[in-house]
Amino acid sequence: MMRYLCKQCGKTYPIASKRYTCECGSLFHLSYSKTVPAFGALKNDHSLWRYRSALPPFEEKTIKRITMGEGGTPVIRLDEHLFGKADYLMPTLSFKDRGAAMLAALMVETGVRRCAIDSSGNAATAVAAYAARAGIATEVFVPSSTSEKKLTQIEAHGGRIHLIEGSRDQTARATIDFVNGSEIFYASHIFNPFFWEGTKTYVYELFEQLGSLPDVLIVPVGNGTLLMGVYIALKELEAWNLIDSHPLVIALQAAGCAPLAQAYEQGSLSPRSVSVSPTLAEGIATGEPARGAQILEAVHDLGGRFVTVTEEEILTSHGDLARMGVYVEHTAAANLAAYRVALKQDPTLADKKALIPLTGAGLKSAIR
Ligand SMILES: *Cc1c(COP(=O)(O)O)cnc(C)c1O
Ligand SMILES: [Zn+2]
Repeated sequence: MMRYLCKQCGKTYPIASKRYTCECGSLFHLSYSKTVPAFGALKNDHSLWRYRSALPPFEEKTIKRITMGEGGTPVIRLDEHLFGKADYLMPTLSFKDRGAAMLAALMVETGVRRCAIDSSGNAATAVAAYAARAGIATEVFVPSSTSEKKLTQIEAHGGRIHLIEGSRDQTARATIDFVNGSEIFYASHIFNPFFWEGTKTYVYELFEQLGSLPDVLIVPVGNGTLLMGVYIALKELEAWNLIDSHPLVIALQAAGCAPLAQAYEQGSLSPRSVSVSPTLAEGIATGEPARGAQILEAVHDLGGRFVTVTEEEILTSHGDLARMGVYVEHTAAANLAAYRVALKQDPTLADKKALIPLTGAGLKSAIR
């Protein structure tokens, strides 16, 4: 039986519940039974659904209806020890498709007709696209500063755009005001734990593609949906005795918007309240991450660290990646910048095998 679970008070809710938080105010986790996928011996399906024994147990016909072959992205060599996983080759051009496919399957199976999502662009694009396939209407809340290209794509998928004057955090508040007291399902990549059941396949794929995990995983953190997926997958691989030790996880934030990096630096496991400066890395411009404490706890539990990157470092990395043939958005380039910062701080990382996620495509934020 699949249920939403509140780890704070122990209460559980059916997945058909339209609630997005527990009565006690805490955010949900997901509880269901899964079995270890036959890594290395999985046949035929190249999408992330190859791992379905360890994914939420949706019906075959639901999966067939919503899937666009998400997952199965290549690993690209960037230099001798550094590799990138090309999640910008997804159906809607960012890693968010991994989670959006899960939310779409959930909405199909629980009879949702209309949903709402807020995002800096990519999560909303992914949900709008997958919801459209399932015949579900999407109300999209984005900051008015969101890249024009992302807005064009969201509209093309039939998403109804609500442009919010103000920050990413103000956009989140506007969405919650909109869904509260309505029948609209909040298809949030942040509140809804189904999302990271999709993002965890990022690590499953690495494990299968490389035969083992790299020594270092660089992970961008805005709302932490990739980080939570990485965390859960590492925990699962450990529990299944498939790995003895896990990679060093280096989480990154933009220097101008680093509530979690600053907290971690100070040894605190609650997010710092920070004043946010605009950043080219719009995908991680989250000043008040709803799952901030959970993310800090995860990085702490993994013995990981945080680094921050400047706008100049992001720009340089963006150009350098493009000259290697890899055209990603600035938020994705921040990952290379973070790898370089981490190397400067700890030169012993230089001959370790490291991997950065190439999270979103360059044409989404084409600015010069
Ligand atoms: C969403 C996003 C991120 C950050 O993911 P979070 O889940 O918010 O931590 C990084 N890069 C790109 C391109 C994104 O769209
Ligand atoms: Zn609770």
